[in-house]
Amino acid sequence: MRAIRRFTVRTVLPTELASLGELVHNLRWSWHPETTDLFAEVDPRLWEQVGHDPVALLGAVDHARLAELAADRRFLRRLADAADDLREYMTAPRWYQTLPDAAHAIAYFSPEYGIAAALPQYSGGLGILAGDHLKTASDLGVPILAVGLLYRHGYFTQSLSPEGWQLEHYPSLDAGGLPLTLLKEEDGTPVKIRISLPDDRVLHAQLWVAQVGRVPLLLLDSDVADNDIAARDVTDRLYGGGTDHRLMQELLLGVGGVRAIRAYCRITGHAEPEVFHTNEGHAGFLGLERIRELTESRLSFDEALEAVRAGTVFTTHTPVPAGIDRFPVDMIERQFGGGNAWPTVPVERILALGAEEQPGRFNMAIMGMRLAQRVNGVSELHGAVSREMFKGLWPGFDLDEVPIGSITNGVHAPTWVGRELMELAGRELPSLIERARGWEGVQKVPDSDLWDIRGTLRRRLVEGARVRLRKAWRDRGASDAELGWIDDALDPDVLTIGFARRVPSYKRLTLMLRDAERLTDLLLDSDKPVQILIAGKAHPADEGGKKLIQQIVKFADRADVRHRIVFLPDYDMALGQLLVQGCDVWLNNPLRPLEASGTSGMKSALNGGLNLSIRDGWWDEWYDGTNGWAIPTADGVTDQDRRDELEAAALYDLIEHEVADRFYDRAGDGLPRRWLEMVKHTLTSLGPKVLAGRMLRDYVVGLYLPAALSARALSGDSYAAAKGFAAWRVRVARAWPGVRVEHVEASGIGDAPEVGAALELHATVALGDLEPGDVLVEAAYGRVGPHDELVHPAYMSLRTDGVDDDGRAHYAGVIPLDRTGPFGYTVRVVPHHALAASRAELGLIAVPEEPAGMTNGVLR
Ligand SMILES: *Cc1c(COP(=O)(O)O)cnc(C)c1O
Repeated sequence: MRAIRRFTVRTVLPTELASLGELVHNLRWSWHPETTDLFAEVDPRLWEQVGHDPVALLGAVDHARLAELAADRRFLRRLADAADDLREYMTAPRWYQTLPDAAHAIAYFSPEYGIAAALPQYSGGLGILAGDHLKTASDLGVPILAVGLLYRHGYFTQSLSPEGWQLEHYPSLDAGGLPLTLLKEEDGTPVKIRISLPDDRVLHAQLWVAQVGRVPLLLLDSDVADNDIAARDVTDRLYGGGTDHRLMQELLLGVGGVRAIRAYCRITGHAEPEVFHTNEGHAGFLGLERIRELTESRLSFDEALEAVRAGTVFTTHTPVPAGIDRFPVDMIERQFGGGNAWPTVPVERILALGAEEQPGRFNMAIMGMRLAQRVNGVSELHGAVSREMFKGLWPGFDLDEVPIGSITNGVHAPTWVGRELMELAGRELPSLIERARGWEGVQKVPDSDLWDIRGTLRRRLVEGARVRLRKAWRDRGASDAELGWIDDALDPDVLTIGFARRVPSYKRLTLMLRDAERLTDLLLDSDKPVQILIAGKAHPADEGGKKLIQQIVKFADRADVRHRIVFLPDYDMALGQLLVQGCDVWLNNPLRPLEASGTSGMKSALNGGLNLSIRDGWWDEWYDGTNGWAIPTADGVTDQDRRDELEAAALYDLIEHEVADRFYDRAGDGLPRRWLEMVKHTLTSLGPKVLAGRMLRDYVVGLYLPAALSARALSGDSYAAAKGFAAWRVRVARAWPGVRVEHVEASGIGDAPEVGAALELHATVALGDLEPGDVLVEAAYGRVGPHDELVHPAYMSLRTDGVDDDGRAHYAGVIPLDRTGPFGYTVRVVPHHALAASRAELGLIAVPEEPAGMTNGVLR
């Protein structure tokens, strides 16, 4: 019989052990091995049995053992030390506290969080990144307040059928068995969030708090008795269900998330966030809720929009069109219009925010960009791809000026780096993990020490992989008698390549199978064998992805290669840690440029693994020729099959002639000197860059603080500036059709201009109803391409030279001819306001009407 409901009865700790409860309920343990050592000591055998999950440990440990520990002076002393250490960690000033005028709080919204394997609320990179972001914010003292959903079944766990087909299981999680605390009102009743739905329905949610070091993570949970069945299931699973289900989840995350923050701040006295960071489109409704709040108190829609935009940061995480979140317009109309409309937020305005080229579609990414004054992608290449992808929102502007920047992702070292390596780093270079400097110290580490640690990590991986492999085969119906070979599967001394990631088609899980014979030869080479460990989950609805997994599994089932290539089911953070720490080489072969950043390769690099990757995402930016290998990409080849063929061949060649050669090139003492040289170079060149600490500082300095300043500027004096800016914006948009560059004239150079000469420019601009102060008139100049287009032009403001009675304004300036070759210039007018974050902000621009007029400006 199956239980229809489950819950966890929490243990009552003896008072002497009360602080053990504190330690368990702060997820800092997930990146603090000294604390988990203490948990292990509670009951070492049980600790292994519960898979290193401290809440499960406390639930299962028997009373006699707790009583024993309560009388164990040595244990109590260690416990007191650990508790002191946590308190000090929670309160001591850190990097952020050294910044003047910093934001009091920053809200961070994400649909998933990968904090620890014991809190399975993530599916892949976006969640892991969010988890690393929070942990790093905690380490640096950045006052983030995070919001997400609590999925009752999390993401699925994966196993395989006898035929190698992916099977999904949705274990029932119970919040009482997780390191979470229910948020309650002062009178002890649980806090309730309510959102009204069409047809007089209401979506209710309660609120769990996960403490991630210093960062509170609020998780909304719709599994409450007030809800009808459908509403209870809103938070049933991550990325499951249809469009309607997704809309409900996003509504709860965005609208409910802001309400959750308000409740949390009201009850705990936590500072209200000045900045709201929206990760991907999923949380985009948060901007609408904040507009609603402001319009209900005192502002018009346009004024509220400006106030909200100023304090909002939007990060786009994917260049894959299918990854962009969209809804049918009528669903949005039903939710935000008719009888369910918010009186002060007209549904037409909402629809306009999410409008895209395709009519009938409501685009969450585009709404995210319109609701945020600051937008970024997650690597330089992804920033460029995003500018291309969304340039239509800023018509008339050059690609370089599309206001989407980039901050390259990073990873949280204490979470991902093997303990032995962290300890070595702590010994040899105290600043290794926390700081951007000091990485040259890696060069001083003796080769033999480094190689020993790499060997330890590889051996641990091989042993862990065997355990998982045996379980996988048992799940597929094999008997122990058939599994003797697993004792010798994989080899702790063989060059080990890892490939673990989600299985969308662009990541090309099966590229390595392209030439099965060639792969077999590499695996079985008698002098220089390689072994490959593979893991990854396909989305439950992705039959294609499941087929790819099956192909890999079928190949790895072959008796001749199964000891050298394995598929390990159920890729999660625990398996990820094992893999990135133990693999010598981290393989990544996405279809460029569809990998926005990728982070698993960064984790590998921090562990002294070498990346073997297509130049996509972060690797495009930081590959330097000797810190790993770039698989040549056949970018221009449009025939996908041909492209796969070319890139696979290049991959095999690299493994055979570069990677394996170097790994097996041993000196007299058995050390692979040339390999270790590359490992050290990887650590010194990539270490400081791939740290999430670098990423977080970039967010704080580049986006959070400027956003906080903008938000303060707009909200001060009862939102006077927001009102002024909104009115200005409306006035400028209305007057813009009257703005024209009427005439441009150049002088100062003869027939044969030479470098070093100066070009005097005079422009006449019709301003219509605008004042000179409303606009910026600029010369754009520089190299021109074959169609007279300016390539990466420079800009220079022209100075006002007076206004005629008829509203024509004159401008002038001097352009240096600072380069030889084809040179061109033009003049443009853009709106100008101190509170705009970029020139393209309003998406308005005026250039000389006759493009032919431009030819005057091209000097050849
Ligand atoms: C790091 C990580 C990811 C993301 O890896 P990518 O390189 O971005 O594909 C996904 N899942 C898990 C479990 C991870 O640890």
